[in-house]
Amino acid sequence: MQGRILKGVGGLYEVYLEGKGSYACRAKGIFRKKKIRPNVGDYVDIDILSETDREGNITVIHPRKNSLIRPMVANVDQAMILFAVHEPEPNYHLLNTFLIMMQQQNVPVAICINKMDLADPEDAVYIRKNYEKSGAGVHFISAIEGDGMEEIREILDRKTTVLAGPSGVGKSSLLNSLVKETRMETGSVSIKIKRGRHTTRHSELIHIARGTYVLDTPGFSSLYLPEMEKEKLKDYFSEFAPCEGKCRFLDCSHITEPDCAVKKAVEDGEISRLRYDDYVYT
Ligand code: GDP
Ligand code: ZN
Repeated sequence: MQGRILKGVGGLYEVYLEGKGSYACRAKGIFRKKKIRPNVGDYVDIDILSETDREGNITVIHPRKNSLIRPMVANVDQAMILFAVHEPEPNYHLLNTFLIMMQQQNVPVAICINKMDLADPEDAVYIRKNYEKSGAGVHFISAIEGDGMEEIREILDRKTTVLAGPSGVGKSSLLNSLVKETRMETGSVSIKIKRGRHTTRHSELIHIARGTYVLDTPGFSSLYLPEMEKEKLKDYFSEFAPCEGKCRFLDCSHITEPDCAVKKAVEDGEISRLRYDDYVYT
């Protein structure tokens, strides 16, 4: 039976089988010997030990398409980062850091701005203008009123998506509205894996619909990039790409050098100043 690891705590894994629900599984000793650890997001084969207790053994871990380190999850197609247009105000530095982090791991990102029912008319224009060249798509929704939810469903459809966002932006509201319909449709069984008292909350995959999974990533209020040279950083700002080779110095850092094409593009309004200032600050 092939399934997907939704979460793992203390050597116990919740494996979800489409149409059958979840089983609490342990990994066989042979993985330990081979130094392979089952990961959230892994496609695995299990032997069902008991249907009544919903227990099984993981016997095979299928090859991973990719494997992210932050957050820890395998077989990811894309990431979605959620912010609110207000309450709380968007933290653009956090957003930019997230974009860099995902680019480093080759994961495309969709930016999703929630609570558009609270927006002023110019808010969407401002955000779109600053991020249209960032390489990430920008989408506006109201999880409470249901606006834009169709578009979000389409983006997520049949993919595995890392969903991140600081607390208070409406992540639970969004997930609830995505899960609500399917839970009622399938009546799928979910097991509860007991959590140790002092363990921090782990990332967890949520089954939304057939083939559609979202990783709920907790504890996302600050992010730190691994030490990286400034020379590398500029490669992660997609809007700088058209300026490539046009600065006086080939190794221009676009910060203090004269005749810098990037700085000129910022002056001309072709590159977002918000994004550029954050590049300098990072
Ligand atoms: P989380 O911390 O990201 O999981 O955020 P929650 O889903 O718990 O939402 C935080 C607060 O924002 C709650 O009071 C929600 O009712 C509210 N909220 C969520 N989505 C919307 C929205 O689209 N519009 C408005 N006005 N409030 C929302
Ligand atoms: Zn330059």
